[in-house]
Amino acid sequence: MTDNEKKYNIAVIPGDGIGPEVMDAGLNVLARIGDKFGCEFKTIKVLAGGAAIDETGKCLPQETVDVCKTSDAVLLAAVGGPKWNSLPGDERPERALLGLRKILGLYANLRPAMVFSQLADTSPLKSEIIGGGLDILVVRELTGGIYFGEKGTKETELGPAAYDVEQYSELEVERIARTAFNLAEKRNKNVISVDKSNVLESSRLWRRVVESVSADYPGITLDHMYVDNAAMQLVRNPRQFDVLLTSNIFGDILSDEASQITGSIGMLPSASLADGNFGMYEPVHGSAPDIAGKDIANPIAMILSIAMMLRYTLGLSCEADSIENAVNEFLDKGYRTPDITGEGYKTVGTKETGRIIAELIK
Ligand code: NAD
Repeated sequence: MTDNEKKYNIAVIPGDGIGPEVMDAGLNVLARIGDKFGCEFKTIKVLAGGAAIDETGKCLPQETVDVCKTSDAVLLAAVGGPKWNSLPGDERPERALLGLRKILGLYANLRPAMVFSQLADTSPLKSEIIGGGLDILVVRELTGGIYFGEKGTKETELGPAAYDVEQYSELEVERIARTAFNLAEKRNKNVISVDKSNVLESSRLWRRVVESVSADYPGITLDHMYVDNAAMQLVRNPRQFDVLLTSNIFGDILSDEASQITGSIGMLPSASLADGNFGMYEPVHGSAPDIAGKDIANPIAMILSIAMMLRYTLGLSCEADSIENAVNEFLDKGYRTPDITGEGYKTVGTKETGRIIAELIK
């Protein structure tokens, strides 16, 4: 990346199902940003997931890894689908995601759970709970814990058994905690760290390390919550959360819960960050095979993921703001994709949404 020339290489993985459709809409918006702000985004399309299995026999070809490693950032739409469900776990399209996270060192997953005020009535929670909107940032550890720990099968007194080990090192907890505290500094200055330290040894280490990191951030308040309570509090009083810091498996579950209370999975972006500025950006949703190829998928999660890439990896905050403002204006003008539409709104498809939002970039 050459800062003063604003030239960037972006690896693009359209993936499966609705992936290519929402990616096209997102790239339309990115191209507009390039024109308006004088940036050059060189996008290199590569394969991962089911599309890669069909083409190369592997869900994560080496060429894809090489292109991602030499790019400034990676954009990924979604992978997976029923066509590949009969493959063994290790060969399935979704395995590409775990591979990319590990190989690219993407240990910090940021998932904003926001309710746009124009869409407050799409939340399944009562309006008195949601209030004027919602803005939680889930910071999930992404390359450690039980998903990457020792696993296996063995014979026991009760017959054949299987196990997966939850393990965290101090270093892994410290770096994700610093990510959470740094982000809280730019927000409402509160971190709630979620664990199960009343039962798990790995959680006791987690809590101890998070507490010691918090000493470096005197301006941020830190609270701890057991994961079962956190699951309850997210629906009871979600507005108490600013930054929610958590391990890989707890974050997997809680971030899906947080996204559901926003009521519109098609609106939610995410970022997975490595040390330094490198990151991979993708919508929270999957490949939605039930609506693929119909031009009805909501591309806003993809478009907002591109805004996150501009902000967190490329340091282009004005450009990121202009995408978010364009999305707000799109909603203000009464445009809706089919997943969030209702009476009195102008319902538009995937391509048209990308075109209108690109046009609204100022
Ligand atoms: P999904 O997110 O694909 O779909 C869940 C529901 O939400 C579906 O009814 C779908 O139509 C709807 N939906 C999702 N995105 C939408 C959008 N942008 N606009 C409108 N509606 C949308 O979850 P799923 O059905 O559990 O999974 C489908 C496939 O995607 C599976 O193979 C799964 O493994 C994979 N998946 C991939 C990722 C990823 O690539 N990061 C994440 C989750 C699931």
